[in-house]
Amino acid sequence: MALIVQKFGGSSVADAEKIRRVAGIIADTYCEGHDVVVVLSAQGDTTDELIEKAREINPKPSKRELDMLLSTGEQISISLCAMALEKLGLPVISLTGWQVGIKTNSNYGNARIKSVGTERLRMELDQRKIVIVAGFQGTNKFDDITTLGRGGSDTTAVALAAALHADLCQIYTDVEGVYTADPRIIPSAIKLDEITFDEMLELASLGAQVLHNRSVEMAKRYGVNLEVLSSYVRKPGTKVKEVTNMEDTKISGVAKDSDIARIALIGLKDEPGTAFKIFRVLAKSNINVDIILQSVGGDDTKEISFTVAKADMDAAVQALNENKAVLGFKDIDVSDKFCKISIVGAGMIKSPGIAARMFEALYEANVNIHMISTSEIKISVLIDVEHAEMAMQSIHKKFFGV
Ligand code: ADP
Ligand code: ASP
Ligand code: MG
Repeated sequence: MALIVQKFGGSSVADAEKIRRVAGIIADTYCEGHDVVVVLSAQGDTTDELIEKAREINPKPSKRELDMLLSTGEQISISLCAMALEKLGLPVISLTGWQVGIKTNSNYGNARIKSVGTERLRMELDQRKIVIVAGFQGTNKFDDITTLGRGGSDTTAVALAAALHADLCQIYTDVEGVYTADPRIIPSAIKLDEITFDEMLELASLGAQVLHNRSVEMAKRYGVNLEVLSSYVRKPGTKVKEVTNMEDTKISGVAKDSDIARIALIGLKDEPGTAFKIFRVLAKSNINVDIILQSVGGDDTKEISFTVAKADMDAAVQALNENKAVLGFKDIDVSDKFCKISIVGAGMIKSPGIAARMFEALYEANVNIHMISTSEIKISVLIDVEHAEMAMQSIHKKFFGV
């Protein structure tokens, strides 16, 4: 007998029939004799619809009130799923994040889990109940409701698995596992049997939304046995683990991130301290910077451009403009018509020529590169957003032949 955490995403619980199907998977696991803790997301597009509802009332609601609203989506799915299991005659209880004791910091809208209470969960499990927990939510030190950031139910599931020392954490979704690229963009993408935590963390952080990046970070830290699989087709999915047997794989996937804005500061003085002053201003405004490029301009000037998340674009421009006199730039150029395409692979570091092959694929697709950034296990390029799919296809074909 094992303790298994099963998480089902929004599309897997989108309507009554899908909830019944999910209840069937849970019931089968339970009836095999396992203890089952379930984490659910809000149904279908509920979270987007709730955000829209908020905007109709107030285009700039406080983050606290937005979290209060968004957390309700998950509460609907857990109660409905519990009802479906009750109908099957199984003992079940649904619990909100607060009832479980999921404590987070106070960063509304993107809160981090600080601790998970296990007492209530253990008590229910000891009574052989199936426990269904609302994903994506917790409470802060004021007992106010927080949410964990979009896609955060994955992180709830992994946090519960870690806290309960579960034998397995299964993330059920609408695809059969982790693929070499988003199968919606590259239909010929190949399903991976396994992938390392490090590669998965890069892919998730670089735009592959199949797992919330913080869930992967946490699974790695606590050694959670993690699997991504389909809630529609019952077959093995992708194991995410510390080390895989696929040593000769140089590249494990291609990812796209369109949540990018590029800011270029033109006509900067070419002297020590310029970069420091710019990035200090951004750091003070709590803005995360991704790719940075410095190039030489004319007349002893230089240009520094960098990318930020779209949501931070306006705040970044405002902060820079407010400090224009100190920073000494002539012009500021802002655009969100870019996207970042990345390849990820732990084997990359030992294989010369990977970057050249990626750039060759882009050249063959006639795609211009604006910025490049690399690490030991990834190469990212910034390109025009309208070239995204073409670029991904060409790169995927170059490395995977399809
Ligand atoms: P859920 O609602 O189950 O949490 P998500 O929409 O968050 O599901 O994540 C699943 C989606 O992630 C898939 O439908 C797929 O389009 C997308 N995706 C992006 N990159 C990948 C990848 N490399 N492998 C699998 N799916 C991916
Ligand atoms: N419902 C939340 C969202 O749409 C959390 C999740 O699905 O994981 O982002
Ligand atoms: Mg998700």
